[in-house]
Amino acid sequence: MEKFDQNQISSIVRRAVLECLATQRSQQAQAEDPLEIFNSPEANALKEEILRVGRKLWKRQYVDGNGGNISVRLSPHYVLCTPTLCSKGDLCREDLSLVDLDNYQICGDRPQTSEILLHLEIYKAVPAAKAVIHCHPPYATAHAVAGVVPQGNLVPEQEVFVGPVALAPYETPGTHAFAKTVLPYVKDHNTILLANHGIVCWADTVTHAEWYVEVVDTYCKTVMIASHLRPMLNEIPPEKIADLLAIKKRWGLPDPRLASDPQAVETPAIPAKDGAQSAAPIRQPASYEVDELVSRLTAEVSGFLLGTE
Ligand SMILES: [Zn+2]
Repeated sequence: MEKFDQNQISSIVRRAVLECLATQRSQQAQAEDPLEIFNSPEANALKEEILRVGRKLWKRQYVDGNGGNISVRLSPHYVLCTPTLCSKGDLCREDLSLVDLDNYQICGDRPQTSEILLHLEIYKAVPAAKAVIHCHPPYATAHAVAGVVPQGNLVPEQEVFVGPVALAPYETPGTHAFAKTVLPYVKDHNTILLANHGIVCWADTVTHAEWYVEVVDTYCKTVMIASHLRPMLNEIPPEKIADLLAIKKRWGLPDPRLASDPQAVETPAIPAKDGAQSAAPIRQPASYEVDELVSRLTAEVSGFLLGTE
């Protein structure tokens, strides 16, 4: 086996695997005509969903002025999103635009939201994320301003749909640095408090992402009121929390308490309701999967070469 250097074989195999993946991605990209998919029936349905959810966010006072933004993954490479400087209560279909994962605006007359960088980081990090909402609901934002993560295990809906929320550090909104603040948390949390700013939620549909906003803001409000009634709050017993985690696992919802079972967070599977649209699933291999494939292939190639000696 001295004739064959294991590291050299591994690096050749890795190059081949990465080249195949790059070719596959570029073929997929060429197969998509952005203008066609921007005007497709599927896109139009998603645009209507964004408008409906925008009005809900505004009516519930989760967005103020031109604050907040909504996006949805339309295809492996393209994302529909709300524009900058527009109230979410006044959106119309023509306001929405299409960007690629590098934040190039492909279609739409109005410039995309400056917070799209945050959304794109989430789409790139979490294949299961199909929709992202960023907004400023008052009770959750109050926690983000105080730097207080709400106590957990108090209300079943919070545990099942959201679970423990993370707190990302403050950065200037609209910047790449801000967008990256969520990366340490986003795989295990569908809802993150953004320090001194607001929250961000991701889900399998825009409708579900808005549900999480409602659930977490109501939860934060309930915890604040309950804490005034009694400083020590009654938690749900651990064995009953285990029941709730089993439900989350069945539905494929992320939760750091399920981290020992990565399969549990692969594919959210809550059935779409209320006109919610699910975009086609995207399957990009994670880097650890590429590593595993390379080491398997390297072992096979090495074994084969050994057999030819
Ligand atoms: Zn904001």
